[in-house]
This record gives sequence, structure tokens and C-alpha cells, in this order.
Amino acid sequence: MKGHVARKRFGQNFLIDQGIIGAIVSAINPARTDTVVEIGPGLGAITIPLLERVDRLHVVEIDRDLIARLKKQHTPERLSIHEGDALAFDFASIGSDLRLVGNLPYNISTPLLFHLASYGQQVRDMHFMLQKEVVERMVAEPGCADYGRLSVMLQYSFWLEWLIDVPPESFDPPPKVDSAVVRLIPKPPEQLNARDPERLSALVQAAFAQRRKMLRNNLKGILDDAGFAALDIAPTLRPEDLPVEDYVRIANYLTN
Ligand code: SAM
Repeated sequence: MKGHVARKRFGQNFLIDQGIIGAIVSAINPARTDTVVEIGPGLGAITIPLLERVDRLHVVEIDRDLIARLKKQHTPERLSIHEGDALAFDFASIGSDLRLVGNLPYNISTPLLFHLASYGQQVRDMHFMLQKEVVERMVAEPGCADYGRLSVMLQYSFWLEWLIDVPPESFDPPPKVDSAVVRLIPKPPEQLNARDPERLSALVQAAFAQRRKMLRNNLKGILDDAGFAALDIAPTLRPEDLPVEDYVRIANYLTN
């Protein structure tokens, strides 16, 4: 692998399938002046074709060896390298109207998605390669076994589109799981109806604490029977039965 040993702890599975790389870049279809930010450029599988399409590219990378390689290969005018952990990175420091892209390390993908959910106002869109099972959870509809906290919180903030299925052979080393590329487009503020987004987040976390239990149990001490009645929501439902709008209605009722 071009003189670099893949580090498991950084979730390094490098893309080698030119067809998939081309499909990702086509899906992003960047204009020269777009502010594109790649999370985890690695050995540059997506970075290099993106650099052909934009005047300047930003990358956020944690692995110092990979950063040193990138610095040798590209000038700072073309490639702006932000060294550090994407989970703690302030994406707003780069600017606004950002277009985020990444073949994300699987071990941090879920917390990273929650972190990025708070940057809706600064982001135009995101294209991410994720474990297929995570994408299934993201796009799951109420009533499905995959529908959970990730589905509710991401569907509240974004429009989601499943774009490309990617088999393990497309990577070196091949991961043990299937992958998929998904597009996330932040919804405009006028469509985000939760008066207190943190209340919504805490509510959803409590509701799904034990997914086999009824809402009445999971929301004990948060929403009483009178509250369920006022909202016309059956307390005997399970968390996976409730659509996103109903979670927003409960959160707003509690915010009054
Ligand atoms: N983009 C490259 C590709 O497609 O071949 C590499 C993808 S590899 C799955 C994940 C990349 O994310 C690696 O370069 C890894 O070092 C980097 N990475 C891992 N954890 C990170 C973190 N917390 N913050 C930023 N980058 C991280």
C-alpha cells in the first residue's frame, strides 16, 4: 500500500476501486470554487481526483504519517491540511456552504454523524462512505427494526439519500462488512420545528434507552399519562413505532 501500513485504530481501509472513486466524485460534482472538506484523506484515493476538480481542498486527518505524506505531495495553496480529530474539529472555522466528503473510519462514524448534525447551518451537503448497516439505520422508517436514535436525529436534521453500494473488495485491506455511500443535505431552519433541539436529543435518547419497552416506561418521569393523552400518543407504543414528527411534538410539549 504505497509504503504505508494500514492502522486499524484509525479505521484505515483505503479505497482502490477506481469505478467507485469516480462515482463518488461524480455524485459530489464539485464546482471549482466550492469549499470541499474531506474527512480522513488517507493516501488520497478521493483527495487526488477532487483536487482535479476544485481550486482548493480542505482535509481533516488524524494520522501524522499520512499528514506528512500529503504535505510532501501538495502545496498548502491547493491542499489545506487540518491536523486533528474530526470528532473535535470545529468545521465552522473553515467557513460556510461547506461540502463535506469522506470514506469515514467505521469506528467513529456514528459519533461523527451526531457531531456533524450540529453544523447544519454551515454545510451545503455531505457525501459519506459508511458501513452499510449504519446507512440502513440512518434511512430506516418507523416500525423497522433498524429505526432508532440515529434515524430520528439524522432524519430530523437532514434529507438522506442512499447512493452507492460498495463491496469489501473495493478497499485495501478489505473490511469485514459491506459499505454504502450516502448523501445528507441539511434541512433549512424553517423546517426544523423543535423549539429546543437539545430537549429533542435528550428525549430521543431516553425513548430508545430500552427499545423493547413501551414509551410509558422509557419516558417515566419525562412524560406522564396526561401528556400522552394531550398529544394523542398511545403510551403503550414502542419507541420504534413513533415517527420523527411525534418526537418533535413531544419535545415541544415539554419545552412549553
Ligand atoms: N479517504 C481514504 C480512502 O478512501 O482511501 C482513507 C479512508 S480510511 C477508511 C479513514 C481515514 O480517516 C484514514 O486516513 C484515517 O487515518 C482517518 N481518520 C481516522 N480517524 C480519524 C479522526 N478521528 N479524525 C480525522 N481523520 C481520521
